[in-house]
Amino acid sequence: MNAPRLTVRGVRARAVEVPMKLPLGTSAGTLRNAALLLVDVDTEEGVTGRSYLFCYLPAAAPAISTMLGEVERTVKGDRIAPDELWAKLARRFKLIGVQGIVRMAMAGFDFGCWDALAVAAGKPLVTLLGGAPRHVQAYNSNGLGLMAPEAAADEAEKLLEGGFRAVKLRLGHPSPAADLAAVRAVRKRLPDSVDLMVDYNQALTFVQALERGRALDSEGVAWIEEPIRHDDFRNCAELAATLATPIQAARADARGHPREGVRPRDARLGEDRGGERLAACGGAGGK
Ligand SMILES: [Mg+2]
Repeated sequence: MNAPRLTVRGVRARAVEVPMKLPLGTSAGTLRNAALLLVDVDTEEGVTGRSYLFCYLPAAAPAISTMLGEVERTVKGDRIAPDELWAKLARRFKLIGVQGIVRMAMAGFDFGCWDALAVAAGKPLVTLLGGAPRHVQAYNSNGLGLMAPEAAADEAEKLLEGGFRAVKLRLGHPSPAADLAAVRAVRKRLPDSVDLMVDYNQALTFVQALERGRALDSEGVAWIEEPIRHDDFRNCAELAATLATPIQAARADARGHPREGVRPRDARLGEDRGGERLAACGGAGGK
C-alpha cells in the first residue's frame, strides 16, 4: 500500500445523541437514542480523518473521549501508520487492558487514521487497501425489539420500506415458546426472499441456547446473533458446530484470536454482512 505521509496533530471528540425512530427493546435493556461519539483525527498536513463510535450508553461517551485524550498525548507528532500506532497504544494501555472503552477509543482513532489516509490519497479506503468497491446487502436493524408476535410482524413489514431485504428480530423472551411465536409471526409475514435474523443480545446460558437454537433450526432464520456471552468463545464454537443455523458472534473481538482458544472451525463466527461493530473489534484494522 502506497499510503500518503501524514502526521498526527490532534484528536477531537464530540458526543451526540441521535433519536431513534423506533425504540430498540433488547433482552439487555431498551435504547431510545443512539449515543454516538464523533471522532476527528487532525493532521499537520491539513487533512482530517473522521469516524464515529456507537457508545450504547450516553455515559460511555465522555469516558471514551477522556481515553482519546490519552491517545492524543501518546501519538501526537507521530506519522499515521495505523498498525504501528495501534501497537504503540496497546503498549501504553497494557496495564488497564485493551478492552472495553479503551479498545473503543483506540478503534475510533484507528478508523479516523485510515479515513485520513484515504482522504489524502483521494480514494475510497477499500481501494487504498487493495480491494474494489462493491455492493453489500444491508439489513434494517431498527425496531423489532421484544414485543408481541403480531406487533413484531407489523413492524417487520414497515422495515422493508426503502428497499431493505433483511431485518433482525430481538429474542430472549422469558419462554422458548414466546421466542418461537415471535419468529413464526414475523417469518410468516415477510416474503420468502427477505432474510430474517435473530439477536439474543447475550441473554442465554449455553444449555438454553442449544435448546432454543435447535427449535429455531427449522424456522428459516438466517443467523442467531449473540445467543450467549460474546466472549464465551468455546461455547460459541460449540453452538456453531452443533446448530444448523449460523451463529453470529457480532462483536468481532470474538472472531477468532488464537490467544482466546478459538479454533479454525469457528470460521462461521463473526460473519457479518453489515460490517458493524468496528468499535468492538478495534477499528478498520480489526485487531
Ligand atoms: Mg446485536
